[in-house]
Amino acid sequence: MGNQKSIPEISRTIREEAVRLGFTDCGFSRAEVLKEDTERLGKWLKQGYHAGMGYMANHFEKRTDPTRLVEGARTVISLLYNYYTERKQTDPEAPVLSKYAYGRDYHLVMKERMYELFDYIKSLHSGATGRVFVDSAPVLERSWAQRAGLGWIGKNSSLISRCAGSFLFIGEIILNLELDYNTFREEDHCGTCTRCIDACPTGAILDNRTLDAKKCISYQTIENKGEISSDLEGKLNNRIFGCDICQDVCPWNKKALQHREPAFDPHPELLEMTTSDWNNLDHGRYQHMFRDSPLQRAGYDKIKRTLRFIQE
Ligand code: SF4
Ligand code: SF4
Repeated sequence: MGNQKSIPEISRTIREEAVRLGFTDCGFSRAEVLKEDTERLGKWLKQGYHAGMGYMANHFEKRTDPTRLVEGARTVISLLYNYYTERKQTDPEAPVLSKYAYGRDYHLVMKERMYELFDYIKSLHSGATGRVFVDSAPVLERSWAQRAGLGWIGKNSSLISRCAGSFLFIGEIILNLELDYNTFREEDHCGTCTRCIDACPTGAILDNRTLDAKKCISYQTIENKGEISSDLEGKLNNRIFGCDICQDVCPWNKKALQHREPAFDPHPELLEMTTSDWNNLDHGRYQHMFRDSPLQRAGYDKIKRTLRFIQE
């Protein structure tokens, strides 16, 4: 890094700037092959637990080796962004959305903040190059966050931070500069707890910390392009987009604090919507309310399909 600041200094100032920009935590890992994950991901795909998410099987080598994904990669910067909220939908009978879907699409919000951080890094070192990823198929974000010392991967497959719980978005900047890498690995603090496994209404969490996406309500309500499997009839617990059940019951989320991101605040009418409001939601109103929302990933037709399914 020549005439510029030392690696520890640059690393410290990047972390400080990340926190100033609103990130909950930030850590650094060396960009190298994720050996353990190569085996684990290979098995998971072989057993078909990725269901219809064919993209999970694509670019296998790039997914487990960031140097194949980004030319000159030396560092993976992992960033966490809190989205936990105490606010809830007011009608207990209304179809339920995952908390992360209340406000503006987190990909847009996170990317804005991450590009600000990247610009800051470039101001520290003019030779900095890299790429920004938010919940992007080619990156194993939870593994990188774990390596960066930001938490452990719980039995429910979420990344859990001791300080902030698991209602966290994860993003990465893959960078060509060397930084001060984390050497601390957070222990697994799940212990003998099985609350998430016991609470999952569809039995999607298997004993060996594997998630069967086919059975998971999040997959079925967001990613599944076809019809929802009849095996899940009566098991969606009124969820129409995502599912927070295995995180809501996790004791580590008692520590979660209200997010401070105005963009994640819900549309003024969203939390008051009743079942009848959802049933009467036409395409025009849907677009008006959810134009920049994560619900666009499912789309109007899929939301309507899931509404029909939970009412059958
Ligand atoms: S998100 Fe819901 S369905 Fe999926 S594993 Fe967690 S509790 Fe089960
Ligand atoms: S509910 Fe218990 S077992 Fe599940 S992730 Fe949280 S601590 Fe781990």
